[in-house]
Amino acid sequence: MPGGDWVVRVLLKRLMCLMNKHHPRRSTMEWDGVSYVGECRHCAARIRRLSHGNWKNDEGIPPPPISVRPPVSSSEPHSSG
Ligand SMILES: [Zn+2]
Repeated sequence: MPGGDWVVRVLLKRLMCLMNKHHPRRSTMEWDGVSYVGECRHCAARIRRLSHGNWKNDEGIPPPPISVRPPVSSSEPHSSG
């Protein structure tokens, strides 16, 4: 019976996250010198890989570096010339 499978899947994923079983978003995976860390693709929690396929919540992981850009000013500085 099509149409209801996605609900089960979403619930399963949420349940996995609640049970501290996460799945990393591949693009966020990083080696922090100890183990792989990343972001859960389902709940966006910061997770650490304990063993193969075994990702656990880790609030001790520092947030990824965010490139901070200075605000762009619309008015150009006056240049003498
Ligand atoms: Zn998760």
